[in-house]
Amino acid sequence: MTHRVALITGGSRGIGAAIALKLAQDGFDIAITYARNEKAAQKVVSEVEALGRKAVAVQADGGSTDGNIAAITKTHEAFGRLDALVCNAGIYPYGPIAQMTVTQIEEVLNLNLRAAMVETVEALKYMKTGGRLIYIGSAFGERAPFPGISLYAATKAGLIGFTKGVARDLGPQGITANVVEPGPIATDLNPEDGAAAAVIRKFTATESYGKVNDIARTVSFLASPDASYITGASILVDGGLVA
Ligand code: NDP
Repeated sequence: MTHRVALITGGSRGIGAAIALKLAQDGFDIAITYARNEKAAQKVVSEVEALGRKAVAVQADGGSTDGNIAAITKTHEAFGRLDALVCNAGIYPYGPIAQMTVTQIEEVLNLNLRAAMVETVEALKYMKTGGRLIYIGSAFGERAPFPGISLYAATKAGLIGFTKGVARDLGPQGITANVVEPGPIATDLNPEDGAAAAVIRKFTATESYGKVNDIARTVSFLASPDASYITGASILVDGGLVA
């Protein structure tokens, strides 16, 4: 495979960090963004470099237009190309809709949905045939199995529609767009031993949490040439939560 470059937003921890390492193993040079956690971001950079690939970490607030644009332009400045964009950074506001504030609504829309749109537009300035757009949605974009997740579910459902439209726009150029929809995955955002973990586990068919590498392996496949005929798809990796 020729030299390829992937950008993973929110790549300092959790699912994003696992995707960064998997794509590095696949031969991609890696750019990650992070919000605050420089130490964790630098650890991922070191781990990618230990795999023999190049890596940069970009501090960029995914909730702002400037941050979205900086993520793409700094990746291009570092590597001179962009082959795969993985929009992964996300937050999970939790609570009944009547208690949600306008600030919470704006924050989750900006990071979980609007960022994917702005970053896609910017990425397409550099992406060529064979390019890959991969959005990390959620099984909650398909189903809201318990109360308190309306804002989050709305942003993740929004990614599905966005992806279908983007796939239509870019199909003729040989660029694919897909959503990966995790179920409960053990991370800081959704700890396996957290207060809600026992309830969440029961919503899956497997009665278990998934691992970050379950998502990373799926992203790896979608980013590969073998997935060139998969586009506009929403791929559940959810232990059967939506079954
Ligand atoms: P984590 O909270 O473990 O990690 C979040 C990552 O996003 C970190 O790298 C963090 O950076 C970064 N980030 C947070 N806010 C911003 C911001 N404003 N700008 C840029 N980067 C930011 O999350 P997960 O790994 O669990 O989740 C990743 C994605 O997967 C999200 O989109 C989430 O909705 C989705 N998902 C997760 C599930 C789960 O069960 N874990 C289930 C379904 C979907 P920093 O280290 O600097 O804080």
